[in-house]
Amino acid sequence: MDYDVSKNFHDVVDGLPDGVRLVAISKYHTNEYIEAAYSEGQRLFGESHEQELKAKHSTLPDDIEWHFIGHLQTNKVKYIVPYISMIESVDSIRLLREINRQAARYDRVIDVLLELHIAKEDTKYGLTFDECRNILDSGEWRTMDNVRICGLMAMASFVDDVSQIRKEFCMAADFFDEVKQKYFANDDYFRERSWGMSHDYRIAIACRSTMIRVGTKIFGPRVY
Ligand SMILES: *Cc1c(COP(=O)(O)O)cnc(C)c1O
Repeated sequence: MDYDVSKNFHDVVDGLPDGVRLVAISKYHTNEYIEAAYSEGQRLFGESHEQELKAKHSTLPDDIEWHFIGHLQTNKVKYIVPYISMIESVDSIRLLREINRQAARYDRVIDVLLELHIAKEDTKYGLTFDECRNILDSGEWRTMDNVRICGLMAMASFVDDVSQIRKEFCMAADFFDEVKQKYFANDDYFRERSWGMSHDYRIAIACRSTMIRVGTKIFGPRVY
């Protein structure tokens, strides 16, 4: 391992304010890297591919909590549902239905976040604010006993312009307030604002992130 994971891990985690958790994004990194963060006390990791997650989950300690953060195809849901702790990347009602259906088979309730598209870039993934409102307005989610919507996830534009990034995260934070008030006012579990990556997590925290997803800054560059 040619990267000082423990030092980098502490650089990120030691300065976090109360109420902000770190999801260590370990995709494309080997178990050795995960174990280095684990031995410093980290228990929450994020992965974005089902196969890779499966291999890691089956060989690493049981007390690791795994978050799924990547694009999830509905036909892959059944593979991660038995052990996943949170699916952060729900971007359609179809996917939500499938998570609910598979979770019921395992008698589990799976925590999820709705993924917003807030960046300028034209990626395929994430819900616009209106799409998100439509899903929540439909009320179908209220009948889903095996999923629990715990908050929102978002990624800012990949730019150097700090004010642009701040604007996007703050829009997401305002939208969180709208959704909280309208649909989840009495639900304490709806409280997560998952935003902030290696290059922008400090801005995200200033915009009320509760969960930062940091990979590169802890584990080094990914080798694809
Ligand atoms: C890869 C990834 C991250 C981590 O990105 P870094 O720049 O390595 O910190 C965070 N969130 C999502 C959704 C990702 O796919």
